[in-house]
Amino acid sequence: MSKKEHAIQRAGLMARYDDIFRCPVCSLPMKMKNGHSLSCTAEHSFDLSRDGYIHLLPNAKASKYDKELFEARRLINGSGYFDPLMDALTTGVQECMLDPSSSQPFSILDAGCGEGSHLASLLHKLRRSSQRDILAAGADSSKPGIALAAKGSAPVIWCVADLTRSPFRDHTFDIITNVLSPSNYEEFKRLLVPGGMLVKIIPGPEYLQEFRQFLYTPSSPKQAEAVEETAVLFARHFPGMKQQRIRYEAELSQPHLEAMLKMTPLSWHAPEERTQLLLAGPSLTVTFDFTILWGEHLNA
Ligand SMILES: [Zn+2]
Repeated sequence: MSKKEHAIQRAGLMARYDDIFRCPVCSLPMKMKNGHSLSCTAEHSFDLSRDGYIHLLPNAKASKYDKELFEARRLINGSGYFDPLMDALTTGVQECMLDPSSSQPFSILDAGCGEGSHLASLLHKLRRSSQRDILAAGADSSKPGIALAAKGSAPVIWCVADLTRSPFRDHTFDIITNVLSPSNYEEFKRLLVPGGMLVKIIPGPEYLQEFRQFLYTPSSPKQAEAVEETAVLFARHFPGMKQQRIRYEAELSQPHLEAMLKMTPLSWHAPEERTQLLLAGPSLTVTFDFTILWGEHLNA
């Protein structure tokens, strides 16, 4: 698909689903106008970019994550290392879609979608397995992330947005996914339909532990505590939540080793000579360890 076709496809999606938005300035409902801008009834207006994403974050600050980091993530995310995790996520989401009475499109928001690979992969798998119409939106506060996401061909509404005060109307989404990204539970509950599901994925205690060992980054018991603390906080907002652990190993060789190091904060302050030694090796087998938290939003 050409760049122009992407932009047309995205503009079509935005026009079809413009009722999911509320103005990021004044919270009034928004409408797509002239095929390329989203405007509220108070005339705050936001244009679709040439790549077909929408920037709904007024007064955006420069992102601490740069383009290079998102390109590293894209390389890793597109190389199959997250497949077992994505399979588990897909299976759970498929179960949520099994409402035969619903004629409405099934709506998914990936909150903190970064460069969009996980949402694109989930959407691809869901569309292969279900006839149901799916509305997918990906939001992130980082413009370089969303700009890279929009270069892909997935039929997703991509937007740069403040996730603590997001530009979507109340009770809009059946599922919110939140993959290795911060949460705002009150806001997520506002966005979910009654009975909707929040799916939060966090790194488990053994995630990339081989990097830690190799780079002398202290392996602290706090890793396990952090998982526990997140689960407790999650359960406070979503009583009856379910917890699932996905753990596997995979061999990383160049250039994936370098990309994985680049996107992993624990390696950013490692001694330079250890980093170089790690990169000089042909490959490294590493542990992927994740906890998936599933929380149904019971109260509207
Ligand atoms: Zn407005």
